Amino acid sequence: MSEGEKTKPEATLTDNGPGGTGSTVSAPGVPEVERRQRPRPKISTTPPAPPPPPKLDDYAPIIGKPELDDLRFLARQLRGKTVKMVNSTAVGGGVAEILNRLVPLINELEVATKWEVITGGNDFFEVTKGFHNALHGGEYAVTQAVKDIFMMYTEQNRQRMQFVEDLFVIHDPQPAALIASKERNRGRWVWRCHIDLSNPHPEVWRFLRPFIDQYDAAVFSSPAFSRQLAIPQYLFYPCIDPLSEKNKDLDESVVQKVCDDFGIDRSRPIVTQISRFDRLKDPVGVIQAYKLAKKYVDCQLVLAGGGATDDPEGAVVLQEVMEEAADDPDVIILNLPPWSAIEINALQRASTLVIQKSVKEGFGLTVTEGLWKSKPVIAGAVGGIPAQVIHKLTGVLVHSVEGCAYQIRYLLTHPEYAAQLGKNGHEHVKENFLMTTNVKRWLLLFQILLGTTRPHPPEEG
Ligand code: UDP
Repeated sequence: MSEGEKTKPEATLTDNGPGGTGSTVSAPGVPEVERRQRPRPKISTTPPAPPPPPKLDDYAPIIGKPELDDLRFLARQLRGKTVKMVNSTAVGGGVAEILNRLVPLINELEVATKWEVITGGNDFFEVTKGFHNALHGGEYAVTQAVKDIFMMYTEQNRQRMQFVEDLFVIHDPQPAALIASKERNRGRWVWRCHIDLSNPHPEVWRFLRPFIDQYDAAVFSSPAFSRQLAIPQYLFYPCIDPLSEKNKDLDESVVQKVCDDFGIDRSRPIVTQISRFDRLKDPVGVIQAYKLAKKYVDCQLVLAGGGATDDPEGAVVLQEVMEEAADDPDVIILNLPPWSAIEINALQRASTLVIQKSVKEGFGLTVTEGLWKSKPVIAGAVGGIPAQVIHKLTGVLVHSVEGCAYQIRYLLTHPEYAAQLGKNGHEHVKENFLMTTNVKRWLLLFQILLGTTRPHPPEEG
């Protein structure tokens, strides 16, 4: 937290205290930990100024100079080519977060890349939100009015934008119909789908698929998310930026201050789940697992999330979480504002274990973040999580409250094994889920699509 930034007790921030006075339930051999009153957590009330964006060379200490040289080599063959990336929002959400870093890095490699955002009225975004939910398996009626709204705004965007680049990367369904601007024999078009298409609403998919089929390639975030398509498909995992506020190295003093502000005792094990208060993230299940494990091992549970106040369901789930935590002062529930990247970073770094006990999940960037910080991660075996958590190698996968409790107890009592999982997890992220890996994948795909790379000739013999 920067100097001069205000902190004040936060009313919506819950710590089950002050007032927790009982003692922990201790198993034989587990020391009784004296309960003290927790200080009311302090939270920043003003967003910090954004830091200057990192440059390519800043990544050298993380990925090594040879990797950077690879990127420069791949980019050299694309010099003079132009790229346009299009999505539907400039801020908020994982896609904007990724584009915010991806586009400057590709430009720094001298492949001229523009990022444009489509515009639309509320009616357009209501339709595309309906599509989004239905593509995740929900219900939605694709009426003629819905089709008309979608096509009308697509036409407006087509009129407003120019399509003169060599390559177009169109993100997600909202701008997908811009493909109508594809010219014969000119430009290559990629559809980058960030959502799980494994079980789409048939009517919505029937409407969208004819657009997708006109692309030159599609990119999905996980093999399990893709669909049968007539066009080539590629797999690009989502990524984190190791130099962002959320993931950069932190001074020990910053980690300590955040823990002090939140009343977290660093002399005892800390088990953390960072997530929106959403039933699919199963925060109540996490508390139940903690309670079972706590019969045998001492620990504190931190549940930190945001958005509960402006999301009616979030508020209900937060209430359920508080009821489940009851008056246990070792359960620390933090309702964080959106500018809490450093706090989340510090909480993850202070944690003995990171949990993501989702029962349904997209990719689960919180898992990536925990692994990157070399933390032993316990996570639900759903969505993109198993691509990150390879069971008993880069973390452990669980399927139930009891399984989660067992793993909390096991990892807290086997610190060397837990540390090895964390170390492996860090390497796995470094290899596969960093922004720089993403840049490399894009450069390779651009080369393939523009024909600057030819497949190897078959080997003789
Ligand atoms: N996150 C955050 N504040 C919160 C809760 C989550 O900044 O209060 C971040 C978290 O660190 C991660 C992202 O939001 O970067 C959540 O991504 P994930 O894929 O795990 O889940 P989603 O919320 O997109 O379903």
